[in-house]
Amino acid sequence: MKIEAIDLFYISLPKITRTADGTQDSLVVRVRTDNGLEGWGECDASPLVSMAAYVMPMSHSNIININEALLGETIDSPEDVIRLRNKAGEYGLDIQQLDHAVAGADIAMWDVLGKHLGESVWKLIGHEASYKKLPYASVLFGDNPAETRTIAESIVNRDFRAAKFGWGPMGRGSLADDIALVQAARDGLGPDAKLMVDAGVIWGDNVEIAYERAVAFAELGVTWLEEPLRTEEVGAYKALSDNVRANGVKIGIAGGEGADYFRAADDMMTNAGLDFVQIDVGRIGGITEAKRVADRAHELGIQYVNHTFKSHLSVAASIHVFAGYEEFDLIEYPAGDSPLILGLTAPSGIFRDSDGFVQASDAHGLGVQVNPGAISEYQRMVKIEIDGEVLFESAQP
Ligand SMILES: [Mg+2]
Repeated sequence: MKIEAIDLFYISLPKITRTADGTQDSLVVRVRTDNGLEGWGECDASPLVSMAAYVMPMSHSNIININEALLGETIDSPEDVIRLRNKAGEYGLDIQQLDHAVAGADIAMWDVLGKHLGESVWKLIGHEASYKKLPYASVLFGDNPAETRTIAESIVNRDFRAAKFGWGPMGRGSLADDIALVQAARDGLGPDAKLMVDAGVIWGDNVEIAYERAVAFAELGVTWLEEPLRTEEVGAYKALSDNVRANGVKIGIAGGEGADYFRAADDMMTNAGLDFVQIDVGRIGGITEAKRVADRAHELGIQYVNHTFKSHLSVAASIHVFAGYEEFDLIEYPAGDSPLILGLTAPSGIFRDSDGFVQASDAHGLGVQVNPGAISEYQRMVKIEIDGEVLFESAQP
């Protein structure tokens, strides 16, 4: 089959706030083929900037838009998807934000190929089994300990056995303030639930402050401390994780969601001393690139975890990536209430079974359906025009 069209849908809530909440807007990508099939993907990147990467005029031989690389191409096998992902990477570089933008098309190509061949994506990318994963509810800290505790209790009431709290006031006050937030999360969750803490790169390159928190949070049974430092502070990460290990502090160090392409993730896995590497399939360039990271993490004995703060379309794309690695047993599971994100794949999704686990399905493609009604409801209508020539104009799904 041939790629006949690539459709871009910028969706957003009517009001965007300055919280660290990635479920306020999204870019959804649809790939249509000449045999009447369609596949869907989602980017975790600035929607409008990413749209431009699909249609902008050529700047020179290394900045050519994604449509130019993919439209009219043949896609009949996993090798074709990998070839086309590489071709898009040759047409454009990081200087056009290629990796984030092409992620949506890459995910959509795997989805449509699965539908074409009658296979699930996890099989197409080389896994032999689809293992169950424990979903952790991923939420932001409340504005104070009391709010945080209420959020934690609501997570328990929704039958989650694991949760991650992040951003908000974490790291903006004293050590005691930070401990009070995590204590509140622990109190609300109870002693048995897994608890993770996401510091949202708040301590920059300050190993000492991060280490103090790691020690304190370990006492509260925190599984990992995520992004205590900026992604590029690889040496500081290494100093922190060496300290944690040398002193027998029982907490993992997690990071990697800021990895924009495979080499950045590989650098962190090799040099940052991570226990958990967290990869966003919609940011690092799609399923093709994320799978390379999962394979490498498996080799190195580092636990791969998805980073996902978008819709179940992204949850589905993420779980296929590491479905076949039994030891990668946790999955980030967005647990907020954004109607845009909740509605995008309704009524399908990667839902919890009676034991509370989730699994990449055997359905053809990604195994979730996109709800065009949700796109229509939240779509921002975009027109990109240069010198009177219209390069792109939004259409209804
Ligand atoms: Mg994070």
